[in-house]
Amino acid sequence: MRKVTKNIYMDYAATTPVDPIVKRTMLPFFSEKFGNATALYSFGQEAKQALEESREKVANLIGAKPQEIIFTSSATESNNLALKGVAFAKASTNQGRHIIISSIEHPSVTETAKWLEAQKFKITRLPVDKYGLINPKDVERAIRKDTILVSIIHASNEIGTIQPIEKIGKILKAKIYFHTDAVQSFGKIPINVNKMNIDLLSASSHKMYGPKGIACLYAREGVKIEPILHGGGQESGLRSSTVNVAAVVGFGAACKICKREMGKENRRLIKLRDKLIKGVLAKIPGSYLNGSLKDRLSNNVNLRFDDVEGESIVIQLDLLGIAASTGSACSSGKLESSSVLSAIGLKPQQVHGSLRLSLGRWTKEKEINYLLKVLPGIIKRLREISGKL
Ligand code: PLP
Repeated sequence: MRKVTKNIYMDYAATTPVDPIVKRTMLPFFSEKFGNATALYSFGQEAKQALEESREKVANLIGAKPQEIIFTSSATESNNLALKGVAFAKASTNQGRHIIISSIEHPSVTETAKWLEAQKFKITRLPVDKYGLINPKDVERAIRKDTILVSIIHASNEIGTIQPIEKIGKILKAKIYFHTDAVQSFGKIPINVNKMNIDLLSASSHKMYGPKGIACLYAREGVKIEPILHGGGQESGLRSSTVNVAAVVGFGAACKICKREMGKENRRLIKLRDKLIKGVLAKIPGSYLNGSLKDRLSNNVNLRFDDVEGESIVIQLDLLGIAASTGSACSSGKLESSSVLSAIGLKPQQVHGSLRLSLGRWTKEKEINYLLKVLPGIIKRLREISGKL
């Protein structure tokens, strides 16, 4: 490993460290409290009790009933379960095969939709405006007689745009199932599944200071979904597998902390976020903010720079011990343009000049100051190297 002078983490949207309190709460469930939650003897019952208490904490964060929470291994799985689960439940009773999604969904939704398309389901992809916002009227206009599901991401993992979920929920209420991928908003901004008329919601523990490998799908009571995994019938028959109790306990503890800290933490992060955005735009010519400033997650900063590659900025920041992310995803060796940044109207060159900095629980003002000190020099040097200055 390379030795770095700083250790500044600005990629909280990718994953978060486990909160030390969460870790401490989990530890006994790896050793003395190891029971299988379905077993009848006391080891099992102890695990079962911890499982149900944690389910309550997760449900509490979004105003759901505990029995409406299905634990899964990841939000990728939750999104698959929501889309495929509804698609197959509805198709089996001939209720339709049309699904509406947005053009800024996470790959776990877009790829699932693509796969469903290959199974003869019909997919409508809604456009967004230059801030990444969906117009609820577009949702209304896209509804057909055979529409069975609308799936709209709550907050973008790339540009942090928060969608008008409550307005969309009102349009769909009691007519068409409404799923939202709330991975980036869960535990960060208030969500109430009843007030927002959400029928299905995906969330992931590792984005909110819980462990990896545990997530959930909220499914409103009465919503029909087909399971993907068949077996022992755990999680009300919707997700067979022995439940990872230690991880669930961590997820529950993380939810409790987020609920308690949300208001204060949002106010703190908004100050840091806005200082960073304003500082960069003032100090670096040819720099721009991607997405909306108004409808934005408190921890998301996504910037773009003329004549610079985001990848090069990430490498230069890493040399200084700062972890950040780009607007492009390098998958299987080839550089792919971010579909989210393209959907807000950016040209490929602009997409490749984008940088995502995501803040979190341990981001300090002095780290923002340090970034503001080093970033202008990095951009200037990279422009000089590329001959663009
Ligand atoms: N949805 C969004 C918006 C995400 O940001 C992510 C993770 O990056 C996922 C889904 C997938 O979550 P998981 O890592 O739990 O599979």
